[in-house]
Amino acid sequence: MIIDQSKIDEAIATIIGYGGHNILNCIQCGACSAVCPGVRAGFPLLCRTLIRHLQSGELEEIIEDASSWGCQACNRCTEVCPRDVRPQEVVFAFRRYQANQLAFSTSSVTSQMNLFETGHAVYTDPRELRTRVGLPAQTPTSAFDDQAKQEIQTLINNSPMGELGLF
Ligand code: SF4
Ligand code: SF4
Repeated sequence: MIIDQSKIDEAIATIIGYGGHNILNCIQCGACSAVCPGVRAGFPLLCRTLIRHLQSGELEEIIEDASSWGCQACNRCTEVCPRDVRPQEVVFAFRRYQANQLAFSTSSVTSQMNLFETGHAVYTDPRELRTRVGLPAQTPTSAFDDQAKQEIQTLINNSPMGELGLF
């Protein structure tokens, strides 16, 4: 197989430019994927696999994939990584790249709507269950904080996502 080094360099520079500063530290050990709830939920291109594609220069080939929108920003990957890659930052760098290219798969639209309306890309209304088990109905997150939601919506409206006309 012929390796296109300039394509690889371009992909790495793009991801570093969007905040995935330590992508080159990755040794593909897989520790991050083993603890990632997004991978377990069936989003294949997170953590190790996403980084492998990016280290191979395959930026355009995966631009339509919706996995990055399944990242819950839990940072388990960051906690276990032995090389300080901070995989969540790589995932978000790729997500920023997708957003700036206005590249959204159909299946990621729901995540974007959730993000706009609640501040969470993955969101399920918790109130009924929490009430049933005797907990306060509302969680202390942006989903129930009007000011936080307003700030999130201002940020989104002033980003390339705002140009999509989804919100
Ligand atoms: S931060 Fe995202 S990529 Fe990392 S473990 Fe959590 S869901 Fe997976
Ligand atoms: S844990 Fe770190 S070094 Fe291992 S595959 Fe994930 S990002 Fe790469």
